[in-house]
Amino acid sequence: MINRDKVTFLKTEIKKPSYEVLCEAAELIKKGEVVAIPTETVYGLAADAYNPEACEKIFKAKGRPQDNPLIIHICDLDMLKNSVKEIPPLALTLAEHFWSGSLTMIFPKKDIVPDTTSGGLDTVAVRMPDNEDTLNLIKMCGVPLAAPSANLSGSPSPTTAQHVYADMNGRIPLIIDGGECKNGVESTVICFTDGGTGIKVLRPGVITAEMLSRFAKTETDKNVFAKPDENEKVISPGAKYKHYSPRADITIIETDSDGKLAEFLNSKNDGGTYGVIFGGEKGIEVPTISYGSTAQEQAHNLFAVLRKTDELGAKRAYVRCPEKTGVGTAVYNRLLRAAAFKTIIL
Ligand code: AMP
Ligand code: MG
Repeated sequence: MINRDKVTFLKTEIKKPSYEVLCEAAELIKKGEVVAIPTETVYGLAADAYNPEACEKIFKAKGRPQDNPLIIHICDLDMLKNSVKEIPPLALTLAEHFWSGSLTMIFPKKDIVPDTTSGGLDTVAVRMPDNEDTLNLIKMCGVPLAAPSANLSGSPSPTTAQHVYADMNGRIPLIIDGGECKNGVESTVICFTDGGTGIKVLRPGVITAEMLSRFAKTETDKNVFAKPDENEKVISPGAKYKHYSPRADITIIETDSDGKLAEFLNSKNDGGTYGVIFGGEKGIEVPTISYGSTAQEQAHNLFAVLRKTDELGAKRAYVRCPEKTGVGTAVYNRLLRAAAFKTIIL
C-alpha cells in the first residue's frame, strides 16, 4: 500500500559539516524545511522552533503523535530568555555547570513558542547541545531549533547519519553527518519543583540524578521505571508511548548468574533468538551481540545494537539488564520501553 504521509519526492543528501553545508542547512531551515543534525546525545530532526508549519513537518516526517512535545535547542542564554517566561536561579546554576550538554530543562513558555512545538502544553523543554557544528548552525539560523530524535516514531533513536538515512530517506532534504554520537542516549529531562528550588527527573540520561542532587533536592518521576496507567495524565507525554523498539521482540533478562543466562538462552536456540549481553559471558550457543560492560559503553551502543538485531533478522532478542544506578538508569529506562516492560528474572 502507498504510504501517503511519506514525502516521496524529496532527495535526501548526507553531507559532512563544513561552512558551506551549514549555510545550506541554515537556508533550508529559514525556508521552513527540516534538516537532521548531529548532537552529543542522538541525531535530531531540526526545524525553526518558532515556525509552527516547519515544526508540523517534523511530526509528519517522524509520524510522531501531536501531543508529544519537542525539545528546543539554543546556542546562548539570550535564546532561553526570548523563549521562556521565568528562569529560576537554580536553572542558571545548572546551565552554568551542564551546558553545553545533555540536560534539558522545562520552563513556562512565552507565546513566541507555538503550541505545535510544545505539543499544546504551556511549558517548553530547552537545552544547549554540546556539538560545535550544531551550535554554529543554531547561531546562523538566529532562532532555537526544535529537534526530537531523528528516527521514525517508535524506532530506536539514531546515533549515526546512516541510521537517520534508514528512517528518513525521502522524507527530509539533508542529513548533516557528524559521525557517531558521543553519548548514544537522549538528554536527561528535568522539571523544577518546590517553587523552582527542587528538581524532578522525567527522563534519565548521562547527567544523572546523583550529579543533579549536588545542586538541589532531586527526585525521579515514577514513570521513569514504570508503565503509566492507560488514562494517567503524565508530566512528560513521551513516557506514554512504546519507544525505541526494533522489529525483533525484546525481553529484558535480570540475573547475576552467567550460567543461568546461558542455560536460558540455549533453551531458546531456534535460529531466531539472539542474546544481547555484556560481552564476557561463557557457554552461550545462540548468536550474541555485546553491548558493553560499563554503563557508558551500554548507553553508547544500545540503540545501534537494537537496530543491529533487525539487520540480522532476529525474531527475538533477550537483553541482559544493565545496572539500575548512575548512567545505567538511562539505559534501563530505554530498554524497558523497547521491551514494552517485558522482564524475566532468573
Ligand atoms: P525526543 O524529542 O524524542 O528526545 O523526546 C523528548 C522528550 O521530552 C519526550 O519524552 C517529551 O515528552 C519530553 N518533553 C518535551 N517537552 C516537554 C514539556 N514541555 N514538558 C514535559 N516533557 C517534555
Ligand atoms: Mg525520541
